[in-house]
Amino acid sequence: MSATHTAPARDRLRIAIQKNGRLAEPARNLLTACGLSWRQSRDKLFCYGESMPVDLLLVRDDDIPGLIADGVCDLGIVGLNELDEQAKARRQMGLADAYQPLRGLGFGDCRLMIAIPEEWQWSGVQMLQGKRIATSYPAILRHWLQENAVQAQVVELSGSVEIAPKLGTADLICDLVSSGATLAANQLKPVQTLLDSEAVLAGPVRELSDARGGLIAMLLRRMDGLAQEQATKLLSFRAPGERLDALVALLNDAGPLVQLGERDGLVQAQALCRGTLTWQQLEEFERAGACNVVLYSVERSLA
Ligand code: ATP
Ligand code: ZN
Repeated sequence: MSATHTAPARDRLRIAIQKNGRLAEPARNLLTACGLSWRQSRDKLFCYGESMPVDLLLVRDDDIPGLIADGVCDLGIVGLNELDEQAKARRQMGLADAYQPLRGLGFGDCRLMIAIPEEWQWSGVQMLQGKRIATSYPAILRHWLQENAVQAQVVELSGSVEIAPKLGTADLICDLVSSGATLAANQLKPVQTLLDSEAVLAGPVRELSDARGGLIAMLLRRMDGLAQEQATKLLSFRAPGERLDALVALLNDAGPLVQLGERDGLVQAQALCRGTLTWQQLEEFERAGACNVVLYSVERSLA
């Protein structure tokens, strides 16, 4: 074996995703929708890309930022909470930034929040002065406490943070919240958000100059295309001709209205809409004179 090691030529892209857990399936579905497919390896830790030179590494979410920092993987799909925690921990240790979020992915939504015992009255950040706060996110919490000039003790726990107040190891907690049910079950209430989180595509801080750079650019374009398709809907309805202008005015981000003909005094019309239309908006549309209102999702669009 040679004594000198040169970095192996990398013309394949490697993406780390969660093996099991909340982000595992949506991450895989997203990459599949981007046209990727894999030959599953037997141990299922490494999946060899078939349709494109893009391989998957299936790991614990906590390991994903470090794998990117070490150059073992080029991209990762991970909660912003985890990425931000490890980025802040690096900074607090004086290390250079090693990764960055490239895109928000619209799933895995949750918030990192301060939660206090139900019987406490929340009177603002200053009431945390001198308290013991249990968390699995010590770097984000320390950074936030410092920003708010609060001196508090950070009690670092790797799991089951929500039972710390009951056990007496902390006075309150800083933890991820989605529905709030876990907090309520432990007689805690969320009072303050530190971070609004979602799953993100994380990548290197500098663009890669070899073939992997091109693969990343292609993947980002496909993800952006997907996000746009998902946000596009086709609204179809019938309405009296003289109501059309008023109806279009109700749609804030619609493309041009297409009239498909008239029958029984009603014009059949349709328009491409960006963003979501709520039930309330559709009902308002109906009250303004539209009937047979149907909202379709769009599979592909060159409009
Ligand atoms: P692993 O075995 O990979 O370490 P884990 O137990 O750390 O798994 P999960 O519970 O699967 O991780 O959560 C993964 C991510 O899902 C979180 O980091 C967060 O970004 C997101 N998430 C969304 N809602 C919640 C929630 N209610 N509680 C925890 N995480 C949530
Ligand atoms: Zn984890």
